[in-house]
Amino acid sequence: MLYIGCHLSSVKGFENMGKEALGIGANTFAFFTRNPRGGKAKDIDTADVQRFRELAEKNGFDKLVAHAPYTLNPCSATEKTRNFAYMVMEDDLKRMEYIPGNYYNFHPGSHVGQGVEKGIELITEVLNDIIKPEQSTIVLLETMAGKGSEVGGRFEELAAIIDGVKEKDKIGVCMDTCHVSDAGYDIINDLDGVLAEFDRIVGLEKLRALHINDSLNPTGAHKDRHAKIGEGHLGLEAIAGFISHPKLRGLPCILETPNELDGYAREIEILKKAYEK
Ligand code: FE
Ligand code: FE
Ligand code: ZN
Repeated sequence: MLYIGCHLSSVKGFENMGKEALGIGANTFAFFTRNPRGGKAKDIDTADVQRFRELAEKNGFDKLVAHAPYTLNPCSATEKTRNFAYMVMEDDLKRMEYIPGNYYNFHPGSHVGQGVEKGIELITEVLNDIIKPEQSTIVLLETMAGKGSEVGGRFEELAAIIDGVKEKDKIGVCMDTCHVSDAGYDIINDLDGVLAEFDRIVGLEKLRALHINDSLNPTGAHKDRHAKIGEGHLGLEAIAGFISHPKLRGLPCILETPNELDGYAREIEILKKAYEK
């Protein structure tokens, strides 16, 4: 079974996201834990969460893949910016426990000239401060396009972060097709090779979720511009091959393509067909 969904707006709560997901043929979804720019989070409505959990169970939803605000930079050179990332992520992880057992994905950040090693050290520090042994949420590092001074474009960098995290079973990776391709990994012509490399460096057991996007730019472009499925350099065939790959089958797939709900519904339908073939 293909577990697939897209980013949904959380303004109307969890039950609403669940219903919206069902309406477009999705059985998982992503949501920003707060305004994607990092504003204040809404209070959690426990009755709403309960109704969502029933809906998700009844409809066989897979784990959700929450997304931290993308403006956080846990490896900033500025202490104030790092503290803000720490505070937001710590609060988000507390809130994630209202919907236990899901994923919380974040961008490792940009080292802004401090060097990748310093960046990795700072990210690891934040993770060790916020990840608690008793939490049920698994924190996911997103593979990045390697734009500017982004950390997480190379598998080695993700492995180094994971290596420094004490709670090993609370940390994993979310692979973004646009980002890995932009970072220089040829998932169009050599997906087997890319996954073998990931397995050797990070370990495939760490890979917990997938972001499914086409890319406006060719492999290695380091740009990070998402395209609709089939309208970018990856193309439908490569993306269908990716979600159906024996080593990736069963992982939750999240679309982050430039679409409204109707566009997501179409992409979900196309990818479900490709997956079942
Ligand atoms: Fe992301
Ligand atoms: Fe992504
Ligand atoms: Zn992106």
